[in-house]
Amino acid sequence: MTVRTRFAPSPTGQVHIGNIRAAIYNWLFARHEGGQFLLRIEDTDRARSTPAAVQAVLDAMTWLGLHWDEEPLYQSTQTAAHLAAAERLLQAGHAYKEDKGGTGKGECVIFRMPGTDMGFHDEIKGDLAKKAADMKDFVIVRSDGSPVFHLANVVDDIHMNITHIIRGDDHVENTYRHVALFRALGATPPKYAHLPMIVNAQGKPYSKRDGAAYVGDFRDKGYLPEALFNFLALLGWSPGGDRELMGSAEMAQLFTFERVQSSAAQFDLVKLLWMNGEYMRALPREQREAACRAVLQARGLWNDALPADYLGRVLDALAERIKLFTDIADAGYFFTEDFPFDEKSVQKRLKKEGALELLAAERAAYAALADFSAAATEAALRELAAARGLGMGELVHPLRVAVSGTAVGPSLFHMLEVLGKERCLQRMDKALEKFKQ
Ligand code: GLU
Repeated sequence: MTVRTRFAPSPTGQVHIGNIRAAIYNWLFARHEGGQFLLRIEDTDRARSTPAAVQAVLDAMTWLGLHWDEEPLYQSTQTAAHLAAAERLLQAGHAYKEDKGGTGKGECVIFRMPGTDMGFHDEIKGDLAKKAADMKDFVIVRSDGSPVFHLANVVDDIHMNITHIIRGDDHVENTYRHVALFRALGATPPKYAHLPMIVNAQGKPYSKRDGAAYVGDFRDKGYLPEALFNFLALLGWSPGGDRELMGSAEMAQLFTFERVQSSAAQFDLVKLLWMNGEYMRALPREQREAACRAVLQARGLWNDALPADYLGRVLDALAERIKLFTDIADAGYFFTEDFPFDEKSVQKRLKKEGALELLAAERAAYAALADFSAAATEAALRELAAARGLGMGELVHPLRVAVSGTAVGPSLFHMLEVLGKERCLQRMDKALEKFKQ
């Protein structure tokens, strides 16, 4: 039997990371088994499932490299099949008609639960069971003639020959109903694997309130799809050992349900950022630079007059400080003379007693340098510190704020070298003028 999995999103306009993680696990399992990964768009809510909302799903999947097999099935095209199935259930006595609540709005079709205790095996959660008394009959066709989610979902899964249903564990309760529907329709229920929830640091379901929650948010912030894919795959699954950085093909090779945890998986942004930084640094230089250049251009920070190797030298100086392409914008002072000054840093470092006098002395020492390499600017500062009996910190901090506007950044001397002597002296002059009492 060929394994066939599917991702069955209900398009709403934004694709939540919890949903796309379900897609990723379906993809990994199908690829692991040499089977097929299908896409079904559950677009029966016509108000929310706009063409743009559907496109958002397709875009998110394509961006992440979640290629699906066969043509996507649009649930809205299957209504006749859903209603025919309801008809069969009525005829076989598995369903009945009722004017629910006696509203006079017409009759709906109600599925008759078997009336026995029910259970199913979950590939992740183990054996799950429910008492007959806790399961009620439920509507499968509304009085307006539209099929309800449970019916459409099961009929489509039968139609698509789905062998494994991998989805969020918010669907566990539905699964008892679905298993009953499969059986009543004469089909063997597929295997089920319900994925643990993604939670925030407080253990609550991870939502928009916790920060970026949609695939598009991460794309807009400059995350790499490979990094997000890797990170989401590890939210609930691990290949064993301490391997973390892995491409999708390698993960597919290693993927099994045994290694999917059943407890909630905590979203850890620090880890995602770290991963993204690793993926960024693994990219070919030109690609990394092109992406950073695009960010700078979008923020009006790009300057065509800068030397061709300039951006590369900035990136070398920033090294591990860049975890996202967009982080380059935080180092805008490399690219413009019109950089902002952080008020707190100015107060603390430049408006401090004696700070500007020291800065003037540093400026004089630097003006005399022929070689402006990191080693030379550092040596000059050490000399000055020794002559004045000061710690290096007293000299380093005001200088950094004067040339970059901020107290945080890469190694100071490396930064000075990249900026070059002329610009450093000009910036020091400007700061001396701007912050004098
Ligand atoms: N459209 C449903 C959802 O997005 C499908 C659930 C399923 O995978 O069966 O929650």
